[in-house]
Amino acid sequence: MNETVLLERETQLQSPTVNLGTQQKKFSLYLPNAYKDVSTLDWEDWHWQIRNRIRTKEELSKIIRLTPQEEEGIRRCNGKLSMAITPYWASLIDPEDFNCPIRRQAVPLEAEFIYAPHELVDPCAEDRDSPAPGLVHRYPDRVLLLVTEQCAMYCRHCTRRRLVGEKKQAAAPHKLDAAFEYIRSNKKIRDVLISGGDPLMLEDDVLENILKTIRSIPHVEFLRIGTRLPVTLPQRITEQFAAMLKKYSPLWISIHFNHPKEVTRRCKLACDLLSDNGMPLGSQTVLLKGINDRPFIMKKLMHELLKMRVRPYYIYQCDPAKGTSHFRTPVAVGINIIEKLRGHTTGYAIPTYVIDAPGGGGKIPVGPNYVISQDKGKYTLRNYRSKIYTYLETA
Ligand code: SF4
Repeated sequence: MNETVLLERETQLQSPTVNLGTQQKKFSLYLPNAYKDVSTLDWEDWHWQIRNRIRTKEELSKIIRLTPQEEEGIRRCNGKLSMAITPYWASLIDPEDFNCPIRRQAVPLEAEFIYAPHELVDPCAEDRDSPAPGLVHRYPDRVLLLVTEQCAMYCRHCTRRRLVGEKKQAAAPHKLDAAFEYIRSNKKIRDVLISGGDPLMLEDDVLENILKTIRSIPHVEFLRIGTRLPVTLPQRITEQFAAMLKKYSPLWISIHFNHPKEVTRRCKLACDLLSDNGMPLGSQTVLLKGINDRPFIMKKLMHELLKMRVRPYYIYQCDPAKGTSHFRTPVAVGINIIEKLRGHTTGYAIPTYVIDAPGGGGKIPVGPNYVISQDKGKYTLRNYRSKIYTYLETA
């Protein structure tokens, strides 16, 4: 899709607008026929969105014409990272475009069952570094707490596909007592990242109990949540929910965004509620072949994020999780994207491109090389226009 088409589509998504209940704001809504009779009250109810997720090829074919590769993908993924698509996300799919980035992230392909030899079940070796159920402790001062395996939508590129997936029952928190005890007894842990699955799938009171428990540990000074729900189910961010989160400030929120089409007015409303309640927002993006692997798409995404107070944080090289090779680009593609951003746009719009080292090495930044040579206090540097400069260190 070229830039003009992208912008046209965005304009189309901004009309018509619908009143949003008590918040007296407006958002864009482009409803497929299947949802024409749904009331705004239902549409805006996140539980309704969850209950009405698209899980079968019959349901999905009411919205888009499925290809044989998709039908086979849906059939084979059943039980393993099964398909689940919120009506909201489905409303963003371009029904005429097989390569629609919204569609490609949500609708399985048969290619998910082709495994490359180097792909791994647990590419970042999280299970190896788990001292208690639901806890990953890799870096000395911070931990990852996996509180549920459920998400609103199952991204087809998911790196945690070994854990994440649909269950019949509502999202329930993992048994976390041992994890809390571990954090409590390790005074070096100053930073807890709550993730999953998606922590925002938990009911308000359940998530609040987790936040309250962690906040009661004196040496934990930094608390963050990793989520995709402001993107796949922005209705989850109610005023009441944002007010609850505010009680646990400072609380940082990392949101998984991959494409500018995800930045709708409705999504912006959700992000505004979080920002207005004091949550600093950052983005995490996975570099995905055919979805966001062109510099102009990434630049547009980063600009849209900044406009709604989301600071671009990371672009991840797509991890070698089993069945994701059709999403992976060469590393050079990511380096070129950073090359096309650095110096060419606002510094705040430039995330760090990282490879999460397979086997548990952690995130390693990769990017263009700006140091041409270094010798006895003399640095030869190139700028974003490839002009050469010398910097002399003084004693
Ligand atoms: S939201 Fe995150 S954890 Fe859930 S399916 Fe998508 S990538 Fe995986």
